[in-house]
Amino acid sequence: VQAAFRSDLARLLELIGTGKESLSFMKKRIRHLAQQWLLAARRLEQKLKGQQRDQKHILIHIGFLTEESGDVFSPRVLKGGPLGEMVQWADILAALFLLGHSLRVTVSLKELQSHLGVPPGRGNCPLTNPLPFDLIYTDYHGLQQMKQHMGLSFKKYRCRVRVIDTFGTEPAYNHEEYATLRGYRTNWGYWNLQPTQFMTMFPHTPDNSFMGFVSEELNKTEKQFIKSNKVSSMAVVYGKEASIWKVGGKEKFLTILNKYMEIHGTVYYETQRPPEVPAFVKNHGLLPQHEFQQLLRKAKLFIGFGFPYEGPAPLEAIANGCVFLQARFNPPHSSLNHEFFRGKPTSREVSSQHPYAEDFIGKPHVWTVDYNNSEEFEAAIKTIMRTQVDPYLPYEYTCEGMLERIHAYIQHQVGEHPCSPGQPSLPLSPLALSPNATHLVWSPSASRDPHAWPPVDSLQVWVSETRHACTETCRRHGLVCEPTFFRFLNKKEVFLQLSITCDSTEYEMNHLYPAVAENVHECYLQKEPLLFSCAGYNTKYRRLCPCRDYRKGQVALCRDCL
Ligand code: UDP
Repeated sequence: VQAAFRSDLARLLELIGTGKESLSFMKKRIRHLAQQWLLAARRLEQKLKGQQRDQKHILIHIGFLTEESGDVFSPRVLKGGPLGEMVQWADILAALFLLGHSLRVTVSLKELQSHLGVPPGRGNCPLTNPLPFDLIYTDYHGLQQMKQHMGLSFKKYRCRVRVIDTFGTEPAYNHEEYATLRGYRTNWGYWNLQPTQFMTMFPHTPDNSFMGFVSEELNKTEKQFIKSNKVSSMAVVYGKEASIWKVGGKEKFLTILNKYMEIHGTVYYETQRPPEVPAFVKNHGLLPQHEFQQLLRKAKLFIGFGFPYEGPAPLEAIANGCVFLQARFNPPHSSLNHEFFRGKPTSREVSSQHPYAEDFIGKPHVWTVDYNNSEEFEAAIKTIMRTQVDPYLPYEYTCEGMLERIHAYIQHQVGEHPCSPGQPSLPLSPLALSPNATHLVWSPSASRDPHAWPPVDSLQVWVSETRHACTETCRRHGLVCEPTFFRFLNKKEVFLQLSITCDSTEYEMNHLYPAVAENVHECYLQKEPLLFSCAGYNTKYRRLCPCRDYRKGQVALCRDCL
């Protein structure tokens, strides 16, 4: 069956069900963004010009909202608890629905079992009937539940699973044996899925698929209106929980900020003003999402104190014409040195409260400064108050951008694809030296599989510096690392083509391979395709990196990827 774009969200709201504050939050959000979503769906429909799209049967099992996993989030929706995950799930539901797929939504183990066809009272047995879904979107909690209740069928069907995983799972943590041997074992990782089956909130590492969420987009008139109504001395503090006001050393920078601006907060409180929030702060309490947006429309500055990490709010602030000011983390925070990230299946080094805002947006919208340096901080405030900025939203966070990306994933990463990307048929390297001899490209004489996705024409192979991951190496060339291309360069001749001398070449399991230890002329190839990883570096190796181009504002897709 062809998937037909939908033109109404009412049916989705029914599908989501009732009975939890988290579900109400998601429905409210979908209702509020409905016009934007519908318009975006119409635009994408025109852009795709009737391209063939199959309708998929999709199960959406939101594991963290089930009673069986404790559902700690729902009771905190109205109390300043984290909302980022719910924002993202609401948007995923809207996007999958508008693209015309057939959806089932579950937030309890019982419903999950009944949709999977697990006979009542019989856990952990293989399913008796074929799985009625082409795709299952879930999270780590849901994954655990599915494993427990599908028996051997879990293994059989695991390629159909997509795991919504805010902070991401790097390949080294995903490979069970390797993680165990090398100390990458955590509470979450080691599922031996294809790393692209994990879908993140921000484009952390291209080893995972970037799912994202949306923020409200303004039209020309709204932008003009907002610009002329900005209060240049109004600042809103990022964070809904009183605890964020406890950060050490904040008195110093708050005093400076208070000299220039009126400080507003949206900190949850029950009856009294939270004692952590200083008296000079105008606290509005936790606001409904659309009222929070209204506050951002007036404010000039949105300021982060270092926590929460990497949420949606800074993008919303920037989209509403605020400047986002945040602290640089030096040294960066990571699972090695910070409680919040400890046990998360990633070694990613977080260089500020919101690295996406820092790296993908930057000035004039985003200022990342050292808060311990009072002069730098004060100078930033003064400049920000004087600077006019336009509301800005990267395309990948618009409704159309998210629809476009999910459409591409569903068409190209569907079913067994992520599990069997197909072995390269060519025994020799399909690569050739670029005209200026700096890197390798797809050889004009090598055959190309017309169905391969992303198309191989976009490939460029670069050698990293030591201490540089492939993510960084590609970034420096204006490209992005593409893990599905590793298989083309995991070959002995590729070292030769790059004029790298190898006294020896070994196949080993290491997430940094293929790589060369240059000073000793030892070359290494990857023995385990699951360990191909854009993330990761050390002092010894220069890595071979598969990079590709990307669409402006849509880093997940290469230029010819649609
Ligand atoms: N938000 C809200 N009311 C407020 C402050 C924020 O509804 O008073 C919303 C905001 O619109 C955003 C969501 O909370 O979409 C999550 O924001 P945040 O970046 O704080 O991420 P979290 O830490 O909650 O995951």
